[in-house]
Amino acid sequence: MTKLTLDKQKTGFMTKLVHAGAPEDAYGSAVTPIYQTSTFSFNNAQEGADRFAGKAEGYIYTRLGNPTIHALEACIAELEQGVAGVATSSGMGAVMTAYMALLNQGAHVVSTASVYGPSRGLLDDHFARFGVSATFVDTSDASNIEKALRPETRIVYIETPSNPNMQVTDLRAAAAIAHAHGALLVVDNTFASPYLQQPLLLGADVVLHSVTKFINGHADIVGGILVAKDPVLLKRLRSVMIATGCNMDPHQAFLVHRGVKTLALRMERAQASAMRIATWLEARPEIAWVRYIGLPSHPQYEMAKKQMSGPGAMIAFELKGGFAAGEKLMNRVELAILAVSLGGVETLIEHPASMTHAKMAPAERLKAGISEGLVRYSVGIEEPEDLIEDLRQALEG
Ligand SMILES: *Cc1c(COP(=O)(O)O)cnc(C)c1O
Repeated sequence: MTKLTLDKQKTGFMTKLVHAGAPEDAYGSAVTPIYQTSTFSFNNAQEGADRFAGKAEGYIYTRLGNPTIHALEACIAELEQGVAGVATSSGMGAVMTAYMALLNQGAHVVSTASVYGPSRGLLDDHFARFGVSATFVDTSDASNIEKALRPETRIVYIETPSNPNMQVTDLRAAAAIAHAHGALLVVDNTFASPYLQQPLLLGADVVLHSVTKFINGHADIVGGILVAKDPVLLKRLRSVMIATGCNMDPHQAFLVHRGVKTLALRMERAQASAMRIATWLEARPEIAWVRYIGLPSHPQYEMAKKQMSGPGAMIAFELKGGFAAGEKLMNRVELAILAVSLGGVETLIEHPASMTHAKMAPAERLKAGISEGLVRYSVGIEEPEDLIEDLRQALEG
C-alpha cells in the first residue's frame, strides 16, 4: 500500500465517503470485493489459536467478521467519527443490539414518543418480558427527558428527526441530561444520515442507522449499523451482534458500501428538491400544514440549524380532506412510488392512516401524532419539476 502524506482524519466528508474503508487485499482492488465465504482457513494450529485468542489479526468465520463487512464498518465509523462500527442484518438488528448490550434486568429507558414503531414495540412487547421498562416522551422539549429519568434509567434513546412528524430533539441537551444521571445516549440517525448530523460529536455514546434508507440509498437491501465512541462499548455491541447472529451478509455490505459513496450527492439533490416541494406544498389550498425542517414554520427550525448541516429530504404534510383525501392522493400519484421506507433515489409516498397504521383505532393514531390526512413524502433525485407536476395533477385530479 502506498503511504499517504495526507492526514486522513482531516480530509473532507466527500473525500471520506469515497475513500473510507479502502480495500486491503493482495491484488490492489480499487473497491473491496465481495468475500462470499462463510469461513477462513488458518495456516496452522497456532495461527488458529492466536486468532481466537485475539493475539493475531485475521478472519475466522463470517458471523464474527468478514473483509467486505469490515470495509463498510470502517467507512461508516469514519463518517460518524467513532472508534469502529458493527454492521447488522437490518436496522432493527442494530436497535436490538443496542438494547441488549446496554440494558440489564430491571433497567429503564427514556425514549422519543414518535420513535420508529418497531423500536418502541421491541421494548414494550419483548424487553418488557425481561423486566425492562420504558417511558416515551416528547423529547423535542428536553426537560421532558429529565422528568422521565429514574434511578434505574440506563439509556436515553433518541430518534431525531423522528418519524413521521419530523420532530427534532436537541442532542447536546439530551447528552448532558443523560450523562448527569449516569445514563448513556443512543441516537437513531437514520433520517439525517452522517452527512447532515453526527451525533457522536454532539455528545452521543452510540449512533445507529437503518442503512436501508439514506446510507445505502437505492432501495435494494435492508441493513443496519452501530458506531460507538468508546472501544469498551463497541466491544459489548459487537459481542451481542455475534452472539445473536444478526450479522450483515457480505453481499449486503458490498451494496451498502457502493451506495454510500454518493450519499452527499444524493442528499444535496434530494434536499434542494425537498425545499422547493415543501415551499410549493405550503402554498397549496388542499394542504392544512407542512412539516419540513427547512421551513421557518417548523417548530424546531432554529434548534435543527444548531445540530444539522441541512434539512434533509423528508416532508410530512396534512391534507385538509382527511382520510379520504389521503387515499385519493395515494391512488392518483403517478411518479412517486406508493411504498413505505425512505431515503432512496426514488421518491416514495405513504399515507400512515390507510397504510402503516391502518390497524390502529383513529383515536390511538391521533395520540401517536398520526392524523387522518397525514402524508409522508421521501424526496428522491428525480427532476423536482416532475415531482411537483405529479403532486399537482394528483391533488387537482
Ligand atoms: C427503517 C427504520 C428502522 C428499522 O430499520 P430496518 O432496516 O427496516 O430494520 C429503524 N429506525 C428508523 C428511523 C427507520 O426509519
